[in-house]
Amino acid sequence: MQIERELYSGKAKSVYATNDPDRLVMRFRDDTSAFDGRKKEQLANKGATNNRTNAFIMQHLERAGIPTHFERLLSDSDSLVKRLEMIPVECVVRNRTAGSICRRLGVAENMELDPPTFEFFLKNDELHDPMVNEYHIRAFGWASDDEIAIMKRLAFEVNDVLKQLFLDAGIVLVDYKLEFGRFQGRIVLGDEFTADGCRLWDVDTGRKLDKDRFRQDLGGVVEAYQEVANRLGVTSG
Ligand code: ADP
Ligand code: UDP
Repeated sequence: MQIERELYSGKAKSVYATNDPDRLVMRFRDDTSAFDGRKKEQLANKGATNNRTNAFIMQHLERAGIPTHFERLLSDSDSLVKRLEMIPVECVVRNRTAGSICRRLGVAENMELDPPTFEFFLKNDELHDPMVNEYHIRAFGWASDDEIAIMKRLAFEVNDVLKQLFLDAGIVLVDYKLEFGRFQGRIVLGDEFTADGCRLWDVDTGRKLDKDRFRQDLGGVVEAYQEVANRLGVTSG
């Protein structure tokens, strides 16, 4: 497998074509951003920590029967993934209230959501990722009815699997964002699952172990990500 040209450089990762048209290299960089890219910083070792954590979680999901794009780790920062045709919506599942749902609905933080909620957001930084619903997704041709149903089903299956995985590590999975894409006629989980895209709270103390440490200037961002990796049993080599 050979890395060829850069296809896309996002806020935290870069994506490279390879000599296999169906495979990409995803490079996890140390760049960290929040508030649609308005707050930016380089955090040493974040890329490597996220690359390994993502590999661990994606493999765990695969074993549980959830199709993902992950193929294998290539290096500290790089993973080989299937090249997906991405669906331009973000799928957010919440088990507890935090972040935008509190601002939008005026509800307190840390309320249990039973059943968990599901929201779609359009992936568009300039528009600040507006919330959209299934009618918008169908009308604008972003995904079909069947694809919408599959994304929702898989997003909740991920919840069942990962809520338990994190709980076993003494961590509450508060909420998370997933992105899906198409590969050879199937809907597959793409992008990443790391502390950059979810909220993780220590079960006993409520200490935040995720990107809110960066958003809220709490410090110890990468240390918290590494603590999550250690507690999950993610190996470093
Ligand atoms: P952003 O685009 O939000 O700044 P990143 O820095 O994480 O995000 O960039 C990674 C980009 O790669 C995202 O746009 C994501 O949708 C895309 N992507 C993730 N997985 C795949 C995949 N398997 N195939 C193609 N594109 C992917
Ligand atoms: N999220 C993300 N990327 C986005 C928007 C949200 O990874 O572009 C994650 C975020 O980290 C959190 C969950 O999705 O774990 C829900 O985010 P929310 O809607 O509360 O928005 P926020 O207040 O975090 O911007």
